[in-house]
Amino acid sequence: MSEVPQARRTCRRCVLPESPPDITMDSEGLCSVCLEAQSSKPQPEEELLESDFTRLLGKHRGKQKHDCLVMCSGGKDSTASLYYMRKRYHLNPLAFTFDHGFETEGALRNVHKAVEKLDVDFLFYRSTFMRDMFAKIVTSGSGAILCHLCSMWYMQVALDIAARYDIPLVIAGWTKGQSAHQGTPSNGAGQAGNREYASMSEATRRFLATLKQDPKYRDFPQSMEEVLKRARRRHKAIVLSPHWFLDTHPDEYVELIRRELDWEYPDLSYPAKSTNCSLNFLAMHLSLKHYGYTHYHVEQSKLIRANQQTREEALKDLEFNCPREFLASLAGRLGIELPE
Ligand SMILES: [Zn+2]
Repeated sequence: MSEVPQARRTCRRCVLPESPPDITMDSEGLCSVCLEAQSSKPQPEEELLESDFTRLLGKHRGKQKHDCLVMCSGGKDSTASLYYMRKRYHLNPLAFTFDHGFETEGALRNVHKAVEKLDVDFLFYRSTFMRDMFAKIVTSGSGAILCHLCSMWYMQVALDIAARYDIPLVIAGWTKGQSAHQGTPSNGAGQAGNREYASMSEATRRFLATLKQDPKYRDFPQSMEEVLKRARRRHKAIVLSPHWFLDTHPDEYVELIRRELDWEYPDLSYPAKSTNCSLNFLAMHLSLKHYGYTHYHVEQSKLIRANQQTREEALKDLEFNCPREFLASLAGRLGIELPE
């Protein structure tokens, strides 16, 4: 079993542990993030209406061979996005799946079934380009977050493809509150309020700066802003998610894609009831080791504070029980040994 540091106290309201300097606990056992949320005025959430979304889609429909590129990992959120673009909004999507070598068979099976049943064009991109970078994070002991680097590259590849095929819309499966920027290193703006990601972003930024010396990764972007800025020079695509505009609960669209696309939950994933690549287990093991929490703890804690998730449920879903042999086998696939 993998060790979650036992000494850390967990907030009694959310699921964040004590992790100074970013997260501290008061004498009542409430974390600094919850305390700040209590004292600051609730930010009125910008309400996005489906009519705004359909108007935008209408502007781009039928102008190119494909109306949108859908980034589809085979998880519930992105598979539902693909379904919606085809069936609810009647667009002609190009489905796109990115595999850095660690996508699971179950996830890929979901993609293939969806593509067949929806009869959409499909691009599958597999590359082990990131493997040495991942290995370097593990062996150097860096606290950089593998998923943040991966999402930057994934985004860059998606935007390249959109440019290549002149596709005006890039559709992701992000749920409300998620975006391309989620936890990725930023040039400065926009992430200031996210204390929970401060150390993770900083470690990732430092790692990326050292990576420049490696000829293989000399041109790797240093931040998500850089990815978006580079892409805009070539092609102006709009990146968005239908989930931002819809109030459908995940249970509802899981039911829908199960029925319509024969979608299935994968056998093995972290957190529970998610679909993530198998390397995610190693990434989250490292995140727990360095910080005592993962970006899933941050996301779940936000849901708890918004009363959209119970603390008990979140704690259960976030239990990390990945056997050490499995982590070692993932390290082996990166060509390295799992550090103690
Ligand atoms: Zn808290």
